[in-house]
Amino acid sequence: MENCIFCKIIKGEIPCYKVYENDMVLAFLDINPVNEGHVLVIPKKHHRDIFEIEEEYLCEVVKTAKKISLKMREYGIDGVNIFQANTEAGEQTVFHYHMHVIPRKKDDGINFSREMLRHLKKMDPDQFESMRKALEI
Ligand code: 5GP
Ligand code: ZN
Repeated sequence: MENCIFCKIIKGEIPCYKVYENDMVLAFLDINPVNEGHVLVIPKKHHRDIFEIEEEYLCEVVKTAKKISLKMREYGIDGVNIFQANTEAGEQTVFHYHMHVIPRKKDDGINFSREMLRHLKKMDPDQFESMRKALEI
C-alpha cells in the first residue's frame, strides 16, 4: 500500500535490520526498541490490523513470533513480552499489522504489569455477566 512505511520496508525502499523472512512474513528490529533486540513481525501483504488480517497471515506471524522468542532465549534473555496494538484507540501508530516481540531480562526496569495495574476497573458480578454475554461467541 502506498505511503505505508512497512510496505516500503518489505519492498526494500526503506532499509531494516532483518532477522527473518519467508514468503508471508518479515521480522526486523524495531527502530525505537523498548529493549535491545525488540523485533517486529509483519505480514508481507498489507493488512491494517487484527480486524482485517487474513487468518493464514496471522498464523504465520504468530509462528514467527515463537521462532523469534526461541532464538532470543538461545541468545540468553530471561523472558519475552508479545504486544500488538490495533486502531488509534488501541495505540497503534503504524497501520500495517505488526506484532512486537520484546526480549526481557530480570530486573531490566521495565514493568508493563505495573502500568496495567494502574488502570484496573471495579466490576460487580452483574457487570461481569453482562460483559460475558456481550462477548460470548
Ligand atoms: P505501534 O505503536 O503501531 O504498536 O508500533 C509501531 C512500531 O514501529 C514502533 O515501535 C516504532 O518504533 C516502529 N517503527 C516505526 N517506523 C519504523 C521504521 O521505519 N523502521 C523500523 N524498524 N521500525 C519502525
Ligand atoms: Zn503496509
